[in-house]
Amino acid sequence: MITIEHIKKKLIEKGIKPTYPRVRIYQVLSDNGGHLTADFIFKEIRKDIPTASRTTVYNTLSSFVEVGLVDEILITGTEARYEIKRRNHHHFLCKKCGGIFDIDIKCPLAQGEYSRVRGHLIQEIHGYFKGICKDCLKKAELEREEHEKDDREVSE
Ligand SMILES: [Zn+2]
Ligand SMILES: [Zn+2]
Repeated sequence: MITIEHIKKKLIEKGIKPTYPRVRIYQVLSDNGGHLTADFIFKEIRKDIPTASRTTVYNTLSSFVEVGLVDEILITGTEARYEIKRRNHHHFLCKKCGGIFDIDIKCPLAQGEYSRVRGHLIQEIHGYFKGICKDCLKKAELEREEHEKDDREVSE
């Protein structure tokens, strides 16, 4: 678990004043893994900062994204998800259960420092895949087997 002191240092390094709500927002992101909604973060920090507003959460998240501490994932098209920036990776959205999974794919543009492509400087790379996750696939398979068994029993 990341310490408050460590978080404060990270924020100061990026030129962000480490107020308590900001530190807590970073901590929630760090403790809960990836792909959190602003709403989830809001509910978490309200537990010990009852006066915190949604605006604080939104503003803090957008400044974290701005300075490169946090990634904003727009894969669902409706609600942004947030995660602490780590090495570049892509995301997979299950259209059935809504789960979001990290996908590590070697993307030549995502390696190392940001590169220039045809003279353009790349600052963000987002790779989104959509489909059916392995758990939902397995469930669908089991259901199909059940149905087939039922059908057999009926015809016998
Ligand atoms: Zn799924
Ligand atoms: Zn991720």
